[in-house]
Amino acid sequence: MDFDVIVVGAGYGGATCAALLAEEGLRVCLVDKNPRPGGKAMTIAKDGYRYELWPIAGGPSEGSRVHELAGVLGLEAEIRFSMPEQAGHFRYVRPDGSVVAAPLSARPSADPAAAARLPALLGAGEEESAAMLGAAATILTMPEDQIAALDDVDMLSWLRGFGLAGPLLAHQLTVLNLLFVVPVDRLPASEAIRTLRDFYAGGAGRYHVKGYAHPVEAAVDHLVRKGGEYRSRTRVDGITSVEGGFAVTAGEDELRARAVVSNAGIQPTVLKLVGPEAFPPDYVERVRALEPSLAFVGIRYFVDAPVLGDAMVLQFSDESWWDSERFARAEAGEWPDHPLLFVVVPSLYDPDLAPDPGHQVILAGTMCSPDPQSPMNEAAVERVDREMLWTWPDLEGHVTRREVFTSTNVAAASRDAVVPGQGGECIGLAQVIGQCGRTKPDARSPLPGLYFVGCDAGGYGCGTHQATDSGFNVAALVAGDLARV
Ligand SMILES: Cc1cc2nc3c(=O)[nH]c(=O)nc-3n(C[C@H](O)[C@H](O)[C@H](O)COP(=O)(O)OP(=O)(O)OC[C@H]3O[C@@H](n4cnc5c(N)ncnc54)[C@H](O)[C@@H]3O)c2cc1C
Repeated sequence: MDFDVIVVGAGYGGATCAALLAEEGLRVCLVDKNPRPGGKAMTIAKDGYRYELWPIAGGPSEGSRVHELAGVLGLEAEIRFSMPEQAGHFRYVRPDGSVVAAPLSARPSADPAAAARLPALLGAGEEESAAMLGAAATILTMPEDQIAALDDVDMLSWLRGFGLAGPLLAHQLTVLNLLFVVPVDRLPASEAIRTLRDFYAGGAGRYHVKGYAHPVEAAVDHLVRKGGEYRSRTRVDGITSVEGGFAVTAGEDELRARAVVSNAGIQPTVLKLVGPEAFPPDYVERVRALEPSLAFVGIRYFVDAPVLGDAMVLQFSDESWWDSERFARAEAGEWPDHPLLFVVVPSLYDPDLAPDPGHQVILAGTMCSPDPQSPMNEAAVERVDREMLWTWPDLEGHVTRREVFTSTNVAAASRDAVVPGQGGECIGLAQVIGQCGRTKPDARSPLPGLYFVGCDAGGYGCGTHQATDSGFNVAALVAGDLARV
């Protein structure tokens, strides 16, 4: 065998898993079709800027799996975090169109009263504030067995059970849409509560010095220093069982390994790379029926003036959060006047990311269908532009270039579309009831030696945190299984 393990895909999940396995002394080859690592969270360099292809920030800020990765690999000097207390603002567009703003800290605030001020700043009444406090206290203190029992309870009903209403309900639900990118009436309360608890303890809105994907880049460099191999611009076209392991068709080569870990998505791996005939029919049926998260699409604005003062903004309204019904309405063309708007300016987190402090790349997006063919893509981008210009009227006069990103671009940077409507998903597999907690697909496939890593299996939490969590958990599974063989 050429390697102990071949990891297909250098997203947060694949790169974490590969680096940890190399750290364990295994012979690892990491293969990715893209020119650089990072997958959906890739940082690119262009015209003197470094930025992500779309808005991205992490949570929890402190005590994250990325911190743990830096520690385990001894990369604390290389992987550094940007978590300003004044990161930006939540902006609530009230029904009359006026806006109130509340500060958004990317770390637990040094001021213990800061969180308590949020309800009043958003204009919430006493009853709503008390309801929010009740929900928050329950989230903070709920024992794990009670959380696990909420796999089949949806987060919208769970929050409504506390009497949450008004701007605080809109705030919570929009935040949950942003974190999981699924309709809130299908989000399991267990997944949401675990994640929010991490956020209450560690804050949210973390960015990484040198670009959000820098920890992945550093992990890949570490893998190579440990004797592992990294092949970029190499698409894997097939994975076949052979005596003692697998043969992987990677570009022009056939590589062999005792085990394969796929970060290419459970559906593309089973239905395309390996092929359904290699799996039991009921497993294939389940895989085919799995549902992707929604997408996140929008615009990159290149501007010749410091138009934004905030590194991160989440703008919301009573209409901006989506349950299944609201999503269906938007898909049919009935959009809210003020949809969810998430904005990140990487150079306000790390000034070295822009060639000139007076210039910015502003990354802005909203939710959309994951179907790369959906006409909703165009409508969503148009809504983002409209909302950005409404919010920052100065923007138009300073835009030197607009780059649109849709679910087609997301699919190109990450996974192949193999079932109708899938490919451009923001997160990976949707964190909805029936696909989360005890019903989440197993990271071990039915083929001994073939594993899944990343947001489809093996982890929990929000986006890149989930992928990194899976990277740790799957590395432990693979190392343990190989040691037993
Ligand atoms: C627009 C947008 C905004 C987001 N915002 C946030 C955010 O603010 N915070 C957050 O935490 N998360 C955010 N996310 C989600 C987050 O980026 C993803 O959930 C996470 O990065 C997924 O990691 P992963 O390891 O599961 O896989 P991916 O990142 O999808 O990586 C998969 C890798 O596999 C490679 N690959 C696939 N098929 C093959 C093949 N056949 N051969 C070789 N290589 C292959 C791909 O090239 C890719 O590098 C956002 C995502 C998008 C799209």
